[in-house]
Amino acid sequence: MRALTVEPGKSETLALSDVPEPEPDSDALLVKALAVGLCGTDREIIEGGHGSAPAGERSLVLGHESLGEVLKAPAGSSFKAGDLVVGIVRRPDPAPCAACAAGEWDMCQNGEFTERGIKGAHGFASERFTLRERFAVAVPTQLRETGILLEPTSIVAKAWEQIDRIASHMPYRPRRVLVTGAGPIGLLAALMGVQRHYDVSVLDHSLHENKSKLVRELGAHYCLALDQLAGPPEIVVECTGAAQLVIDVCRASSRNGIVCLTGLSGGQRAVQFSAGSFNNDLVLENDIVFGTVNANMRHYQAALDALQRAPKGYLEAMITRRVTIERFAEAFEKKPGDIKTTLEWT
Ligand SMILES: [Zn+2]
Repeated sequence: MRALTVEPGKSETLALSDVPEPEPDSDALLVKALAVGLCGTDREIIEGGHGSAPAGERSLVLGHESLGEVLKAPAGSSFKAGDLVVGIVRRPDPAPCAACAAGEWDMCQNGEFTERGIKGAHGFASERFTLRERFAVAVPTQLRETGILLEPTSIVAKAWEQIDRIASHMPYRPRRVLVTGAGPIGLLAALMGVQRHYDVSVLDHSLHENKSKLVRELGAHYCLALDQLAGPPEIVVECTGAAQLVIDVCRASSRNGIVCLTGLSGGQRAVQFSAGSFNNDLVLENDIVFGTVNANMRHYQAALDALQRAPKGYLEAMITRRVTIERFAEAFEKKPGDIKTTLEWT
C-alpha cells in the first residue's frame, strides 16, 4: 500500500512510498485512511528538524492529524465497519510512569512516550492503519468533512481545561480573552473561548480577509495590535510561539492574568528584554504563565463536543485546501489564504 514517508533528520526525503500492509492484530481496528491534516510539526519533520522513526527503521510514516473509516473491528468492539474514527497521537511510555498509567500520557513524566507520525511510531498517512480501541475516538457522521480538525482541537481542549482549573480558583469570573494567532489553533481556541461565553479577541499579524470574517462570525473581535484591545486580557491563549509576542502578552495581561502558551518558537532569534522587570510584572500582578502540549482521551472527547457545537460553516471554512495524496508536495507549499490544508486519499 502507499504511504507518505520521510527519513527523520534528513530533508528532502518526503515520498509516496510502497510500504507493507499493517500487521493484522486481533485486538485492533483496521482503518482505511480518509485524510490527514498538515501542521507546522509535519513541516519541521520533512525539513529534517524533528521526528524519529520506529526503533530499527529508517523511515517514518508521516501524519498525526487523522480521519479514517473502520474496515474491520475485533469481536466485542464498540466500533463496526463503516464507523468514522480518529487516532490518538501519543502512546504511553512502556514503564509506564504514574501519569501514563492513569491514562494521562499528555503529562508523561519520563519522556519515553511515542507519538504516531512524530516520535518512534508510524503515523496515519498510509492507505490503511491499525488502531487499538483505547486510542481510537469515534467520530459522528456529521463530522465527516471536518473531523480531521479533531486532533488540533484536542490540543486546544487541554489548554482550556488547564485554564478552567486555574480560573475556577479566582474569586471572580474573568471576562476578556485574547487569542494570539489566527491559524487553526488560534481559531479553535477562539471557538472554545466563545463557547465558554468569554469576550474573545483574536490578534493576527496581518489582515487576512477569511480569518477576519471567521472571527467576526464567531462573535469575537479581530485585531492587528495589542493596543486595539478594549482592556488588558484576563486570559491569554498564545498560539504563535513568536518570541517577542510571548513576552509582550505576559506583560499585557491583566492583574491575576492567566497566560497559556501553546506555540513552539522557530529559529534561535534572540529577543532582548529585562528579565528583572519581567519577573516583577509577574510577581506584582499574581500572573500565571504556563505551557501546554498534547492531549489525552478526555481532551479528544471535549474537542468532539466543541466541534459538534461549532457555528455552521465555521469548521468547513477553516479547511482551505484539500489536496489529493498524489500531489502531496503541493500540500506543503504555503499559499495565500491557507488556514488548514489536508491530504486526502481518493
Ligand atoms: Zn509516561
